[in-house]
Amino acid sequence: MARKSKKFKTEVQQLLDLVIHSLYTKKEIYLRELVSNASDAIDRLRFESLTDDSLLEGKSDWKIKITADKKARTLTISDNGIGMSGEELEQNIGTIASSGTKKFVQNMQGQKSDDNGQFIGQFGVGFYASFMVAEEVEIITRRAGAGQTAFRWVSKGAGSYTIEETEKPSRGTDVILTMRPDMDEFLDDWQIKSCIRDYSDYIAWPIVMDVTKTEKVDDKDVESISEETLNSMKAIWKRSKGDIKQEEYEKFYQHITHDFSAPMTEIHYHAEGTTEFKALLYIPEKAPMDMFMREGRRGVHLYVKNVFITDDCRDLLPDYFRFIRGVVDSSDLPLNVSREMLQDDAVIRKIQKSLVGKLLGRLKEMKEKKSDQYMSFYKSFGQVIKEGIHSDFDNQDKIKELLLFASNKTDQDKPVSLKEYVMRMPSAQKDIYYLTGENLSAVSSSPHLDIFRKKEFEVLFFTDPVDEFMMQRLTEYDGKKLIPIDRGKLNLDGEGESKGTDKADDKDAPQNDPGDLKDLVELLKDKLSEDVKEVRLSGRLTDSVCCLVADDMDLNANMERIMKAMNQDIPPTKRILEINADHPVIQNMKKILSDDKDDPRLGDYAELLRDQALITEGSSIKDPGKFAKLLGNLMAGAPNKEPNKELNKAKKA
Ligand code: ADP
Repeated sequence: MARKSKKFKTEVQQLLDLVIHSLYTKKEIYLRELVSNASDAIDRLRFESLTDDSLLEGKSDWKIKITADKKARTLTISDNGIGMSGEELEQNIGTIASSGTKKFVQNMQGQKSDDNGQFIGQFGVGFYASFMVAEEVEIITRRAGAGQTAFRWVSKGAGSYTIEETEKPSRGTDVILTMRPDMDEFLDDWQIKSCIRDYSDYIAWPIVMDVTKTEKVDDKDVESISEETLNSMKAIWKRSKGDIKQEEYEKFYQHITHDFSAPMTEIHYHAEGTTEFKALLYIPEKAPMDMFMREGRRGVHLYVKNVFITDDCRDLLPDYFRFIRGVVDSSDLPLNVSREMLQDDAVIRKIQKSLVGKLLGRLKEMKEKKSDQYMSFYKSFGQVIKEGIHSDFDNQDKIKELLLFASNKTDQDKPVSLKEYVMRMPSAQKDIYYLTGENLSAVSSSPHLDIFRKKEFEVLFFTDPVDEFMMQRLTEYDGKKLIPIDRGKLNLDGEGESKGTDKADDKDAPQNDPGDLKDLVELLKDKLSEDVKEVRLSGRLTDSVCCLVADDMDLNANMERIMKAMNQDIPPTKRILEINADHPVIQNMKKILSDDKDDPRLGDYAELLRDQALITEGSSIKDPGKFAKLLGNLMAGAPNKEPNKELNKAKKA
C-alpha cells in the first residue's frame, strides 16, 4: 500500500481542536492515556492467546517501554500487545465509535473550559490527548500473529493523517510523539517517572524506561544504561483494607475510570465461602454522561486469579447499578473463560448477588447516617436505582427504602422517603397518594391536588420518566396501597370500594345540587364528545374549575407523553372531564344555559374548559390559535355578568 493521505471525520477534527485548544492544565495525563491503551492491548492479547497461543509467536515477556530522546525531542511508548491491522488503525484512530463521545464533542464545541479536560478519557478520547503535548504523532503497529503487515500512521492533528505499510519486526504498537517546543519538560526522566507513579502505578504490566547512570570509575565518568521498572504493579484489591490509604483508593479509582474527581465512596471486601472473590467497588461522585445510553460503558472489570478478563462483563451487576465502577477478581472461574460463557454463569450469578447485597446495604447505611452524602448520591443516581423496583423483584423491598420523593409538603431539597411519609400520615388517611407529571412546577399546581390540600393529605410527586414504569410495580408499601390521584374515582375515606364522585353519594362532592347541573353536563358531553370520554361532577376539585382524569385502566396524560417520546405508536385515549360544581365559571355557564340554550358562548366556553384542563395536565391543546382567540375575546371584556341580554338584543335587531 502506497502512502495515502486521508481526512479526519468531522467529529474527530472537532475533538482534536477541542483537545489541542483545551485550556486543560494537567497535560501530563496524555501519558496515562497512552500507557492505559498499551496495557489494554497487552490484556487483549493475553486473553486471546489463552485460546490461540500461536498469536504469541513464542514471546510473552509483556512490557510497556517508554523512551525519551531529548535530541530528537521524541517520546516513544511501545507495547508488545495485540497491535492493529491497517483497517483497525483507521477504524480506531480515525473515527469516534462511541455516540457518547460524539455528543460530548458537540456539547463542548465553542467552549473553552478547564472542565473539558475532565472528560478526556471518560469518553474514549484518550489517544487524542497526545496532541495536547505533541506537534506530530506517529503510530507504528503490527498485529499479533504470523504474516501480519505493519502500518505507519502519522498526523499533526490538523485535518488529515497519512497511512502506509511499513516494517516492524515484532508485534505491538509504538506511539512516537514529537513534542511541541514548549513541552520539553515531558521529555525529562524525572517528570516521566513521577507521572507513571501518580497515574499508572497499578498497571499490571511492567512499565520500563532506560535510565542512564553516570558513575565514577577510576576518576572517570562512566555512563551505564539500565532498564528500570517504574510501577509497582500491585493489585490494590488483593491487599487488606487496613493497609490501604484513602489516597491509594482514590488513585486507583482515577486509574480505572479516567475520572479526575474522587469517588463518593468505595466498598472493598473479600468474599469467602461458597464463592471466593475479591471486590473493590466505587460509587462515583457524578453520573457519567452516557448513563442513559444503551451502549454506555459499564464499569466493573473482571479478573480471574489476577488476570484481566474483560471490562465489559454486563452480568456482574444488574442494570440499575450500571454506574458502579471497580474490579472483581474471582478465583472460582477458569482462566480461559470466554466472554460468551460469562453470560449465564452460576459463579457470576452468585458474585452478582453478593455485590448487590453489599451495595444495597451500603446505600441504606449512607441514607441513615450520612444524609447529605445520600442526597447527593440520589441526585446523581436515583433515577437509575428506581429501575431496580421494576427489574429486581427479589430486592424490591430494600430498594423501596432507598427512594426519595418530592411532595406537596416538602421543600425541594428535603424529599421524603416512603417510611417518613407513612409516619406522618394523618390517622384519617389510609392510602399513599401520588401524582406523576412532567416536572415539579406542573404537578405542584395541578388541580388534582385541591381536595388533598383541603384534607391536608400528602401527595408524592413523581416526575422522572422512569417513575411511570416504576409505579407499575410499586403498588404497595408497608401494607398501604399507592394510589394515583389523577385516575378513576377517589375514595379518600378508605371505606371499602369507592362510592363514586357523583355528588349525591360522596361527601367530598360540591354542595350544589347535581340535578341543577344535569343539563350543563349533558351539554358539555355533547360539545366535547370527540375529545372526552365522559363529563362528571368532581369530588376532587375545590378551587380549580375542571380537570381531566384517566379512567381506571387507561393511560394517563404523563404516560401517554412518555410513550410518544419513545416513539411508541399508541391509540389516543380519551379522558374524563371533571367539573367543579361550586366554581363561579360553572355557575355562570349554568345561567347562560338556562337563559338561552343556543347561546353561542356555550360552545366556546366548553372548548375553553377542555383546553384549560389539557394545559394544567401538561398536554398540548388541539388548536392553540383558537384558544388564544377565545381567551382574547374574554379578556377584551365580552359581557359575562348579564350573560345573554346584549347578545340577544343584537341578534333580535
Ligand atoms: P479508548 O482507549 O478509550 O478506546 P483511544 O482513542 O485511546 O480510546 O483508542 C482508540 C482505540 O484504538 C482503542 O480502543 C484501541 O482499539 C486502539 N488502540 C489505541 N492504542 C492502542 C495500542 N497501543 N494497541 C492496540 N490498539 C490500540
